[in-house]
Amino acid sequence: MLRRTKIIATIGPASSDRVMLERLVDAGVDMVRLNFSHGTPEEHLERAEYVRSLARARARAVGVMADLQGPKIRIGKFARGEVTLKAGERFILDAECKLGNRERVGLDYKELPEDVSKDSILLLDDGRIVLKVQQVKGAQIITKVEQGGVLSNNKGINRLGGGLSASALTEKDLADIKTAAAMKADYLAVSFPRSGADMRWARELFREEGGKGFLVAKIERTEAIAALDDILSETDAIMVARGDLAVEMGDAAVPALQKNMIRAARLSHKLAITATQMMESMINSPVPTRAEVSDVANAVLDGTDAVMLSAETAVGQYPLETVQAMARVCLEAEKHPLPPAEVRRQAPSTIEEAIARGVIFTANSLDVKAVAALTHSGDTPLLMSRLETRVPVYALSPSVETRRRVTLFRGVFPVRFAEDSDDPEEVLYKAEDELLKRGAVHLGDMIVLTIGEPIGRSGGTNTMKIVRVGEHRKK
Ligand code: PGA
Ligand code: MN
Repeated sequence: MLRRTKIIATIGPASSDRVMLERLVDAGVDMVRLNFSHGTPEEHLERAEYVRSLARARARAVGVMADLQGPKIRIGKFARGEVTLKAGERFILDAECKLGNRERVGLDYKELPEDVSKDSILLLDDGRIVLKVQQVKGAQIITKVEQGGVLSNNKGINRLGGGLSASALTEKDLADIKTAAAMKADYLAVSFPRSGADMRWARELFREEGGKGFLVAKIERTEAIAALDDILSETDAIMVARGDLAVEMGDAAVPALQKNMIRAARLSHKLAITATQMMESMINSPVPTRAEVSDVANAVLDGTDAVMLSAETAVGQYPLETVQAMARVCLEAEKHPLPPAEVRRQAPSTIEEAIARGVIFTANSLDVKAVAALTHSGDTPLLMSRLETRVPVYALSPSVETRRRVTLFRGVFPVRFAEDSDDPEEVLYKAEDELLKRGAVHLGDMIVLTIGEPIGRSGGTNTMKIVRVGEHRKK
């Protein structure tokens, strides 16, 4: 069986040598994520190149996602690397402090004192440490420790309820966008966007640098939840970034938000990625917990395009086992239909959407073994993949960028295809041969083919054919 849900693996020290990377790709990683919060541009460029050469050697498409750090607000460093805070004590976040101690620590975001006021709750280190603001005095935020613990260098700060005014793209992000464009990243992920305007800004900068990839909005701020429709209108994909989102919204709010976000993305013809702690215990264990198995399966049942691994593959002890376990859980969960919440009430509004609906309706009604979508941009396969079907959609494309892009689309599989004839009959035979060659169909199987006529012109799937493989060649 083909797995329809895609797997994204973050590459880090545990997965960057060639042998491990090869194993991960062979185990079914569809896309790698390069996390710009860590590592150097040279490292990321090298890893992207590795992945590409490996994929080429296997005649497979593997996508590359460049994930920007964004305005993650962090404390500075401590003279001794860490301190232990106790509940009830006073602790000062001081924008002017150079090296911290038990009383105070510096801030990388000097404007934080302007963004908080008395009674604001600040969550440090993903919520492990909780501070309540008592007073803001110039560059100093005087707090009371509500929940103590060990606090070490450069840990992140979130404010409960959101509302920090830091711009969505930092100086570092601007430089990293250049690196992402240079590596021809297939996806550029933007951290902490607040609005559609933030996504538009990131897209403009990426395009100015020659970047052609899709944009991913990481939904991880309170403001982004309220602005979801606006963000969806300016992005190609969203990531349910459960790590930071749980800190800002409270962890218990996240499961329902995940369901709503995935549904909203699919309905607006955008992609959805579910991320963070999916197989967390596998950082140190060769088997997942029952809860993790359920979590991955539920994301599949929610209709996610992809499930993502972070520390599990970047720094974990069992990257290969984690990918294998994830693939196995996805395959099993895919046997069950998506919840019927997904009724599309609106009629199709474009020719391509009408074709996509017709194709999937047909595929689900007749005994269709495969859909072959001849595509330049990948737009029609994207529309098809927003509808529920168990019939695989093969995106036959001459464009390597398109083939790498569709690696994220649920139920869509890239196939290299040169349309070297303008005769539709001949192109149809070639498409059939391509599917026969990879064992996707057999002679006599019913398939649905879509194509834009006249052939070779980009943009404009306008034809749908239902045929039996090999049938019309008998005469
Ligand atoms: P991160 O984003 O891993 O870059 O923090 C994902 C998340 O916050 O869940
Ligand atoms: Mn995050």
